Parts: sequence; structure tokens; C-alpha cells
Amino acid sequence: MEPSRPCLYASLPVPGPHVPVASGAVRQDYGSEFYMLRFKVERCTNPLPHDHTACPAAHHGEKARRRCPLKYRYTGVPCPDFRKGSCKRGDACPWAHGVFECWLHPSKYRTQLCNDGPMCSRPVCFFAHTASELRETDLAAAGPAVSPKSRQGGKEGFAGVDPGV
Ligand SMILES: [Zn+2]
Ligand SMILES: [Zn+2]
Ligand SMILES: [Zn+2]
Repeated sequence: MEPSRPCLYASLPVPGPHVPVASGAVRQDYGSEFYMLRFKVERCTNPLPHDHTACPAAHHGEKARRRCPLKYRYTGVPCPDFRKGSCKRGDACPWAHGVFECWLHPSKYRTQLCNDGPMCSRPVCFFAHTASELRETDLAAAGPAVSPKSRQGGKEGFAGVDPGV
């Protein structure tokens, strides 16, 4: 027994192989299809108070609420009017309203690799974490071409609107 001697390893930085967050441990993944077509689209049926950001359903007045991309024909291109404040076209608008409609759109969701890779701990992330998660999209069928400027945005594209915060 050497009670007063502090453990040497306690003061050392954790070496490489010790990955603090196992991939998928924090991030709950329902699969690409679910996120693109159902996430924050269907109304929540849970009447009890709960954390809306952790719930995949849509809630009254929630900013993340989306129109179903199959039911409503809109593209992943952000609506200029919605960005300025409000859009008179409402649900009939052909452009994306908000970051969730934009980034979860089938033309954009998981078409770029996440800067954090498999270490990403966002509860909801719009990017691919492995090469197999990366989606091929037919941009020609997805409406107007996305400008190069908005495509290279990556992480900055939705800075400050991380749904986990
Ligand atoms: Zn809910
Ligand atoms: Zn609009
Ligand atoms: Zn990520």
C-alpha cells in the first residue's frame, strides 16, 4: 500500500488509442432515409413535456419543423425571403425554409464529409461520417444547381444553429 503517492497516470494526457466518445455512442442515428423524409416532418404525438431538440418529431412553433420533401416540391436552396425574415409563399415556396429544410434535403443531406468524422458528437449532423455514409445525389434532378459558395461552406454553413445547443 502506498496511500499518499498520486497515481502517475492520472496526470498524463490520455494516449491516442483511448477514444473518449465511441462513434455512435452519443449521436443517435435513425438512418439517412429517416432524416431526409421524416425527421421534424411528422407531428409529435407525445403529450408530455419533453426535450424537443432530442425528439425527432416536429412540435408546434418549432424552428426545425420541415415540410416533407416528397409532398412539397422544394429544393435544398435556401429561400432568400425566408432568410430576410418571412416568406409569403409559405408551404408552397419552392426553396428551403431554414437550415433543417436546406441541409436535410435529399439533394444535400450527407453529401459532404463531416469535419469531425466518426468523432462527431452532434445529436443531429447533416454530414457523412464515413465514406459509406456519403450519399451520391443526382443534382440535376434536385432542381437548380447549388452555388459553389454554399457548397463549400461545410461546418460554417450551419454554425450557431447546432440543434444540440
Ligand atoms: Zn416530441
Ligand atoms: Zn420561401
Ligand atoms: Zn458530424
